[in-house]
Amino acid sequence: MRIRTRLTLWYSAILLGILLVIGSLSYSVLRWSLMQDLDASLMTVAQVVHDTRSDDADDSDLDTILRNLLGPESYERFVQLLDPDGRPRPRAPEPRASALPFSAQAQANARRGANTFETITHDREQVRILTMPIVEDKHVVRIVQVGSSLGRAQGVLRRYFETLVVLIPLGVGLAAAGGAVIARKALRPVDAMTAAARRITAEDLHQRIGRQGTQDELDRLAETLNGMLARLDEAFRQMRRFAADAAHELRTPLTALKGGIEVALRASRTPEEYRQVLASSLEDADRLIRVAEDLLLLSRAAAGPEMPRLRIELEPLVLEALELGTRLAQGTGAHVKLGPVAPAAVRGDSGALGRAMRNLVENAVKYTAAGGTVELTLRTAAGQAVFAVKDTGIGIAPADAERIFEPFVRLDAARARETGGTGLGLAIARSIVLAHGGTLALEREPGPGSCFVISLPLAS
Ligand code: ADP
Repeated sequence: MRIRTRLTLWYSAILLGILLVIGSLSYSVLRWSLMQDLDASLMTVAQVVHDTRSDDADDSDLDTILRNLLGPESYERFVQLLDPDGRPRPRAPEPRASALPFSAQAQANARRGANTFETITHDREQVRILTMPIVEDKHVVRIVQVGSSLGRAQGVLRRYFETLVVLIPLGVGLAAAGGAVIARKALRPVDAMTAAARRITAEDLHQRIGRQGTQDELDRLAETLNGMLARLDEAFRQMRRFAADAAHELRTPLTALKGGIEVALRASRTPEEYRQVLASSLEDADRLIRVAEDLLLLSRAAAGPEMPRLRIELEPLVLEALELGTRLAQGTGAHVKLGPVAPAAVRGDSGALGRAMRNLVENAVKYTAAGGTVELTLRTAAGQAVFAVKDTGIGIAPADAERIFEPFVRLDAARARETGGTGLGLAIARSIVLAHGGTLALEREPGPGSCFVISLPLAS
């Protein structure tokens, strides 16, 4: 069911409930107040009879007076004088047709000198009766009964009920129609957004969903969707650039390989020349394999660790990285040393984390000239294990601090090719660390060189 229909049904049902409650309450109040009015007027008439009687008029005078006062018909039907035992008083000039009933309850009350109001059926109609004793010298001398038909009050109530029966459904119907119009108007921007979102495909992610400018929930939804589109757009752009970079990276050694083989085939060569061509082909093939392996590693690291996250001590991994650094530094003359190392354990994949640490050490040695130092440290701070590789090498300009983590970014292409980097080392390291819930950043440090820091949440 559509939201619009659901909303309309809901508030129509609520409105109907409210109107029914109000209707029945007002009906009860009306009935009560009609009854009060009726009782008050019965009281007045009874009082008149009572007062007339106490004026000591004799009984036939009383009849005449009351008949004149109340009208012959009402008087005949609804006024009755009883003696203290409840017997109707013989009345002049003719006896009445049917006496008002004198109930046991009214009788008991009258004996005590109390008034009684009752609703009874008399002559096939509902009648309200007041029974009032007339007391003289502490004795009940007469009992006055006055009645009044409930017909009029019932007519008023019936008409009020009929009005409610017509007006309540009419009101609910009108409210439902109005509500449906408002709901449709309020939800129209949602339809527009749906249509706009449907139009946007992977090819035109730069399109955005229109905003109303009202700063309401729907505008915020549009903003959120636009934010998501912007991130998707950026992700797609990065993916395309990555694919182009990867193709370029693979094409360079393949072109070199092809060129070498073509030149070798152009004429007949000596065995030594063939050996040279094969040796350089092998180098190109090695390079291709390295790029392919790094690409594989990067995609695996981005997908996150496959194995269950075991608790691993970082110290042995630091020592492994130190060993690698020392071995690599033998050719360059840099000095690789171990700084303070505190025991720290994290959860994750030790192979991957070792790889990330080795990448940093490899870089530090690669970009540090003879006489420089590379220092590895491990400490814990604020629930994090912090591994840092600090070198006194060529350093990195602040402007490049973020860029170097992107795939295939090399700050000095000539040097990188010479040192054999694929430009994927830092991207792989960062992917691995992010997949472990940590961070990898280039720290701002005084002095020459650079300092890369891996922070990982400590295992509990
Ligand atoms: P590469 O395979 O080229 O080393 P990386 O992703 O590991 O690729 O590094 C990207 C670039 O960042 C490198 O080409 C280099 O210019 C720069 N870089 C990385 N580490 C250091 C460092 N310790 N000192 C100076 N430059 C560095």
